[in-house]
Amino acid sequence: MTRIAIVEGDGIGHEVIPVARRVLEQLHPEYEYFDVDVGYGRWERTGCPCTDPDIAELKTADAILFGAITTPPMKDYQSVVLRIRKALDLYANIRPVKNKDLDILIVRENTEGLYSGIEELTSDRATTLRVVSRKGSQRIIRKAIELARQRNGLLTIGHKANVIKSDVFFRDICLAEAKAAGISYNDKFIDALSLDLLQHPKNYSVVVTTNMFGDILSDVAAYLVGGLGLVPSANIGDHYALFEPVHGSAPDIAGKNIANPIAAVRSASMLLHHLGDYHGSASVEAAIDHVLRKGICTRDMGGSAGTREFGDALVQSLQGAK
Ligand code: NAD
Repeated sequence: MTRIAIVEGDGIGHEVIPVARRVLEQLHPEYEYFDVDVGYGRWERTGCPCTDPDIAELKTADAILFGAITTPPMKDYQSVVLRIRKALDLYANIRPVKNKDLDILIVRENTEGLYSGIEELTSDRATTLRVVSRKGSQRIIRKAIELARQRNGLLTIGHKANVIKSDVFFRDICLAEAKAAGISYNDKFIDALSLDLLQHPKNYSVVVTTNMFGDILSDVAAYLVGGLGLVPSANIGDHYALFEPVHGSAPDIAGKNIANPIAAVRSASMLLHHLGDYHGSASVEAAIDHVLRKGICTRDMGGSAGTREFGDALVQSLQGAK
């Protein structure tokens, strides 16, 4: 029995994930779906955002569908998202930035870099350690090479080796692996790359970079395809996999039934692809296109459909395609 853990999380996670869940349930009523309640809301209710048993429960799933979790800027609050990524060793964050004209994969290292969580705060100084390990760099560049090979595309390595020593280390490992793999590749400073990606997106196929650069670059690149409401992601490790929209909990629009559920639904499509249901995954993408062609879309895309109404149209389209 395939088991899917559902984490709605916080904010618009409670609105977009139910839509993605309906889509999965429509295609796979035989799967077992179970909720795991972690996040800021849980912290407000119980004083603890995520426990060891929650992590153990997540590990029992074949795949996790995840909304978004609010991380309040408080000194003593540990990010649940970072905890889960580390505990499940989800080292590759794959973020497709895609529409009918573009197809870019941003491959972000997901367990170290500036998000290693090794920090110190005194009254005079704050320090965050940027950890870049050989193991971490090798496994992310190898994943990026695998993806570049699959699509026969150029691999671009993004770094800031002109300033940061840990990125000299990252760049050199990536360049050596890419050269040995015999694929086409180049490397660019991340700041120049960010602008060039917006100006000449068709020059890019797969972009690999460290944790925080990848986080920022994928939000920026979302601009190319209509914004954060549209971009999904996969967090992949050797043993576990978690699928989530790139966007956060969007407290500014939460509870208003206006969030765009497409990023969450596309994350569900990536989940199906990961589980080997390529047909189901493609049919979800086709249903999204079908609904959008009918002019049904949420406010961020210039429409007036609510989150739930978009979900209704999507499920209807999937039923019609059966
Ligand atoms: P955000 O992605 O939540 O929102 C940024 C902007 O995009 C907001 O104006 C929001 O309304 C809009 N937006 C986001 N998703 C949308 C959607 N589906 N449809 C329409 N508009 C959408 O980023 P933020 O405001 O910087 O962060 C809010 C909270 O989310 C913070 O607590 C942050 O820590 C958290 N966050 C969590 C994750 C995660 O759980 N993986 C990722 C990013 C941010």
